[in-house]
Amino acid sequence: MHTKHTDKSIALWVFSAAIALLYSLVIGLIEFQGVPVSDFYSFAVTSLQWGVVVFCSCGLVVLLTCNRWVFSVLFPLLLVVSAVLCYFRFAIGLSITPMAVEIFFANATDISMADSLINWKLIVVFLLSVTLAAILVYIRWKRVRTSHRQSVVLGLVGFVIVLCPVTLIKRIQPAVGARLPYALYFSTRQYLNSRHEVLTERNTYTRVDAGPSATPPDVIFVIGESLRADHLPFNGYERNTMPHLATDTAVISFGNMYTDFVYTEASVPHLLTCWKADDPDKAFEEQSFVTLFKKAGYRTAWFANQDVSASYSYFAHECDTIVYCSPLSSLYSYDKWLDGDIVPHFDGWMDASNTAPSLAIVHTIGSHWWYKSHYSENQAVFKPEIMHKNVGDLSREAMINSYDNTIVATDEFLHQIIDKLRDRNAIMVFVSDHGESLGENGVYLHATEDEYLHYPACLFWYSGTYGSLFADKIAALRANRLHSYNTSAVFHTVLSLADITTPTKTDSLSLLYHRRALL
Ligand SMILES: [Zn+2]
Repeated sequence: MHTKHTDKSIALWVFSAAIALLYSLVIGLIEFQGVPVSDFYSFAVTSLQWGVVVFCSCGLVVLLTCNRWVFSVLFPLLLVVSAVLCYFRFAIGLSITPMAVEIFFANATDISMADSLINWKLIVVFLLSVTLAAILVYIRWKRVRTSHRQSVVLGLVGFVIVLCPVTLIKRIQPAVGARLPYALYFSTRQYLNSRHEVLTERNTYTRVDAGPSATPPDVIFVIGESLRADHLPFNGYERNTMPHLATDTAVISFGNMYTDFVYTEASVPHLLTCWKADDPDKAFEEQSFVTLFKKAGYRTAWFANQDVSASYSYFAHECDTIVYCSPLSSLYSYDKWLDGDIVPHFDGWMDASNTAPSLAIVHTIGSHWWYKSHYSENQAVFKPEIMHKNVGDLSREAMINSYDNTIVATDEFLHQIIDKLRDRNAIMVFVSDHGESLGENGVYLHATEDEYLHYPACLFWYSGTYGSLFADKIAALRANRLHSYNTSAVFHTVLSLADITTPTKTDSLSLLYHRRALL
């Protein structure tokens, strides 16, 4: 005689552990494919990170299995969404980033986009995952032996593990939060934070006038990433990391620019807004110079080649147009992620210009860590390069070589942007958000505290037409290039170079303000 007890032959904890491991191991393997490893040590470190990601993922699934109603609703959803996203990862290199979430929401009702993404392979993946979810839900109801005590214990264990990446252990948050399943939560949260900032009303320049020049130039403002001034040939570096720009006589480099801010989210708002040393937080509350350019009749666009974080999403949305150049890339995917990919978008936008002058803000990925993602094989001039991603186990020589190769890539990228501007009345401003530590004090990368983070590269390039129309401005830049400045000068400098008339601009704070020559 069959009893209810023998029908339900699987203990809840066995079912829970099996489903958690099955889901997490498969997802973990897919998420870590492509991570560079070159020796036993780097393999061991990557395996440890993989273990942490799998462990946290297991916690979530265990939490979902502890109650059969919760399991029946949420687990199929998790499984089907994960399967579809993994399919897109293989098909189009998708990573779950806030940009990808934004694009999803922006196009959720766009039938033509759905049409171009749906094919028979996706339908097979979808149907298989739905079938698997249905079978597991059936087993959870009909075959799993539950007890109140086991449910409570598993629920508590799962809940505590989920809290680890979400709030308890901040250290593991970036690596776990960039990967499934937690990427769904963290990227959506970041996207919603950005939306909140974008929708917050800022009226800084509502009643401020801004008038254009009689001959308004196109202004291209390029935000560099982690590029330190002392690795450029203009500033005394012994390597020619910028072979194109080094031979261009219209390039002017400021080698002594200081920034107080050593990571992107803090630095970018301070490049775009009018703030003073006694009130740096204004950068997070005000409108940027984009609004003043718009008032002066400019068409404006933001070209994003990295995530638009909440701290500067408002400024990106101040522009008439936002172009996401690599919306599917993640710092954890290790695929090629090049600024050269911005060029076709930029060229197309410039070609579409009408009579209005153009302001383009180009946010590059530049010299961000994992360096090898950000230059092509042709640009690997300095060798040996880094071959795995565990900073502590890499030689300083390889770190610097690969870092310098990213500058070769930036040089080629800027050269391509300049090519588009040669025949126009145009000026390009390039300022990196901060520097990068390259082992001088035993410190690498950025976002810690190290003096090398405080000196970002700062370059200008002007077209022939601009040089003759605004000869005094170019002379002022040339005269001042060896002086020391703070990045608070950038806002006033950009408005001065555009020759925009506005009471917000303070000439004495700009890089063009006449300084006594250096002795
Ligand atoms: Zn940065």
